[in-house]
Amino acid sequence: MTFHAQILTLYPEMFPGLLGASLAGKALEQGLWSCEAINMRDFATDRHRSVDDTPAGGGAGMVLRADILGKAVDFASARMAEKLPSPSGEGLGVGAFNKRGTETTAPTPTPPLKGRGYKAPVIALTPRGTPLTQARVREIASGPGVTLLCGRFEGFDERIFEARDIEEVSIGDYILSGGEVAATVLLDACIRLLPGVMGASCSGDDESFETGLLEYPHYTRPVEWEGRTIPEVLRSGDHAKIAAWREEQAEAITRLRRPDLWERHGGASGQSPSGAQ
Ligand code: SAM
Repeated sequence: MTFHAQILTLYPEMFPGLLGASLAGKALEQGLWSCEAINMRDFATDRHRSVDDTPAGGGAGMVLRADILGKAVDFASARMAEKLPSPSGEGLGVGAFNKRGTETTAPTPTPPLKGRGYKAPVIALTPRGTPLTQARVREIASGPGVTLLCGRFEGFDERIFEARDIEEVSIGDYILSGGEVAATVLLDACIRLLPGVMGASCSGDDESFETGLLEYPHYTRPVEWEGRTIPEVLRSGDHAKIAAWREEQAEAITRLRRPDLWERHGGASGQSPSGAQ
């Protein structure tokens, strides 16, 4: 099944955007993933197609309305469900929806989703969300797809998180102007892990974070550049020694640059990160 990405956004023209080029773009062309940007304004009900309003209690900025978001999320969920096989192999039953996401026929009861692979998460990109990790990226990439909700202005009316099953994910401790760039980051990280995207020789298994450590340093020709040579061990042809050197380097770099990761990794050779036995 092709991994399907749905993006709920006020700027559908931003997709596939960067993901239309290079590795992800080639994979898109090859049908290894598919992408659908849904304009949240399509769910507005007034002639100005408004999606936001002033914050309750006052203050600067605008807030994305829960009623509009609710309709957009329901529409996206129904579309995603149409694409997923049920545990019996049939498409999941959903009602028909018009362009605005208003249901036009009664929904067929949706069978319970069983096991991994049947549930595509709905993820809102928010600075207060759970920080995105490679482990979560792997989980998302191993499923059938993802629906991403991109915020703008001050963000979302809180009630959308109470009323719908939506995970919140942050891509770092800084503020972007909108969720689209964060959605692009999340999708790029997932797409490169999809079967066939990186090619058989490169699984990405030994890259930074996959092992719980940052990666060891890389070198390539020329052997000498500005008086600096490639470490002898990498030119020795001794694969065991090379592997040991790389492991040591990965550990040293992680200990120095990311004590938090080192702590979680538990230190090398069963030692605590501080070196104590
Ligand atoms: N008022 C929000 C706050 O202080 O947390 C910031 C809103 S931001 C200007 C607009 C939108 O950009 C957010 O709703 C979110 O979708 C997205 N965004 C900004 N920074 C992000 C981050 N670090 N991770 C994920 N999404 C982010």
